[in-house]
This record gives sequence, C-alpha cells and structure tokens, in this order.
Amino acid sequence: MRLGPTPPTAPASRGPRHAFCAQWDGMIAIVLAVGVVLMACACSAGSTSQPAPASSPRVADPLPGTKLSLEQLRGQMFHVSAGRRLKPSSWPNGAKVAVGLSFDVDNATAALSTGTLDYEILSRGEYGAVDGVPRLLRLLERHRVPASFFIPAVSAALHPEMIKEILAAQAPSSSARVHEVGVHGWIHERLPLLNDEKEEQRLLDQSLELLTTMVGARPVGYRAPSWKFSGWTLEQVKAAGFLYDSSLMASDDPYELLLDGKPTGIIELPIERILDDFPYFGGNADGSNPSLTAVYEIFQSEFDVAYDEGGLYLLTMHPHIIGHRSRVAMLDRLIQYMKGKPGVWFATHEQIARHVKAQTNRLLSSEGR
Ligand SMILES: [Zn+2]
Repeated sequence: MRLGPTPPTAPASRGPRHAFCAQWDGMIAIVLAVGVVLMACACSAGSTSQPAPASSPRVADPLPGTKLSLEQLRGQMFHVSAGRRLKPSSWPNGAKVAVGLSFDVDNATAALSTGTLDYEILSRGEYGAVDGVPRLLRLLERHRVPASFFIPAVSAALHPEMIKEILAAQAPSSSARVHEVGVHGWIHERLPLLNDEKEEQRLLDQSLELLTTMVGARPVGYRAPSWKFSGWTLEQVKAAGFLYDSSLMASDDPYELLLDGKPTGIIELPIERILDDFPYFGGNADGSNPSLTAVYEIFQSEFDVAYDEGGLYLLTMHPHIIGHRSRVAMLDRLIQYMKGKPGVWFATHEQIARHVKAQTNRLLSSEGR
C-alpha cells in the first residue's frame, strides 16, 4: 500500500545534483534516450504499412505543480519538513560550537548500482578504500578527533578491511570506539529512481542487517544516498528506530523532522552542498577545480559564523574525493584552525544527536511542570 502522497518518479526529481552518482544518472538518461530512439526506429521500420499516429506521443507535463491546488501543494511541501528547532542552548563542557566531520564511503557503489562497468571509473571509487580511508584515519588519529562514516552496505562488504580500520580507533583512556558507522543505502541506490516502496524497505533492512553484523552494533544514524528521499523514506527510517537523519538542509542547526506535519522524534543534523567536497571536486568538476584555497576559505568562513552563532558545523566528505593528498592537506589545515580556537567540540553525529535529544527532553520535562 502506498502511504502519503504519491512519491515523485525519477524524472520529477530535478533538484541540483549531489554526490558521486549524479553523473551516472546523466548517463542513464542518455542510454534511455538512445534506447527510446532505437525502439522508435525499430517500430517504424517494422510498421511501414501502418498509418502514422494521429497525434504526437504524450510528453510528461514539465510543470505539474501549476495544476495543483494550494491544499495539494501543502501536502507535497510538508510531507517531509522542518519542525521544532533543536539548536541546544549549550554544548558539552561549555563549548561554543559542535563540529561533526562526516565521510560518505561511497567508493564505487554508485557506479555499480547502475551497472557501469567502466574500470577507470570504478578504480576512481576504489581509491577511497585503498588510500582514502587509511589516509583520513591517520589524519583523524593525529588530531585525535572523531568522525562519522556513512557507508553503503555493499561498499563495506567489498572492502571489509575499511570497517576494521575505522572501528580499530580507540579513545586513549578507554576501549570505547572513536568513530561512528551509519547507514548510507545498500548500493548507493537513488531512492526516487528506485521508486518502489517494498524494494526500498528490503534494501534498508538488509543494509541494517549487514552493517549491524560487521560493526557489532546497530547503527543509529541514517543518510540517504545522494541525500535523496523517496515519498516513503522518512516513514521507513522512523519505523527502523533511527535516532537521527543527516540528509536534509532546512536549517544550519539541528531540528526535528515532521512527517505529514506530525513530529517524528527524529533529529535532523543538516548537511549543505557548500559544506560538501563533491560539488567542488567531484561531479561536473570531475577533479578539475584547482583551487584548494577557495574551498578552504568557504569551509573556514562557514565555521567562523557557526562558532559566532554557537551552532553546528557539519562537513560532508567522500574518501575517494577528499582522500587525495592535496585535499587531505587542506582538511589538515582546517582542523588545525578549528582546534586553535577555544571551545570547539569535535564529536560524532551520534554524540551530537544524543546531546541535542537530552537537552530537548530536559526542556520538554521542565515545560510540562
Ligand atoms: Zn553518498
């Protein structure tokens, strides 16, 4: 059964593109277009005796929103939306800002999801497992800062040594793990393109099962592949009991996700394209952006304002993109800069979400008195 509004089909998802697989969607579109043309040619070749169709083929309405009532538009707009602002009044130990470093370990999964068996492209993703993750782990270890790794289950299964290396980092004074592993789809499937409620549920279930087995604990954080939700994603994420999501961007600071206007209890830790390595170095840039300085300046300015506002600073990075030598050097410089300021709390997304939740619960219980 379909719940909620009809989810958008793939062609309706026309927002700006993020993440590794954007280029593959483009290629799929080209392949499909070529296929349609070939099919059209084949049909016309085999039906020369048939009369020409009376009308031209129907083209999908490019502006369906213009035909909808305000009520219908409200239903679409607020199927998934921002609820209570959850920016905490304080961070642990009086810190001024919370810094969450996240790495989406896509590697080659987005290409594999589309059946792209181009080994130049696959090796570009493989770099994340071979050099990217190890180099980044060395950097984090040197600075003694934690991070969250969102990993498509297939990526973890193809390179299980990454998981071992990520989990091997331990806090100096205890045996507690330093880094967090979160869910990032089965094979980096774009959910609006999948457009199938049961399949989406099956892939989420088996992703959770595989990662739970490999990590030894059930992940509490979710990040949608390419940050794209289908019409069913939030409901499935809520039913799976995730503590937080980190795929959306209605605010700079944490907020609660609403599903059809109702609170879900899920904390959104917002991401942003300007705080993502992919638009600068991956995708259309395809590694052609030579200016590390420009990216560094943007990342630092965003941090400076988050610091002044007492908010959350969350970076999204990809080991197969940021993990290259010159870019890790840039990240090294940025971490040094942030560590040079007093009151900076480096934490995993899970730690940040738990702090936000505890503060919110305290607030709710005091309001209830
Ligand atoms: Zn990704």
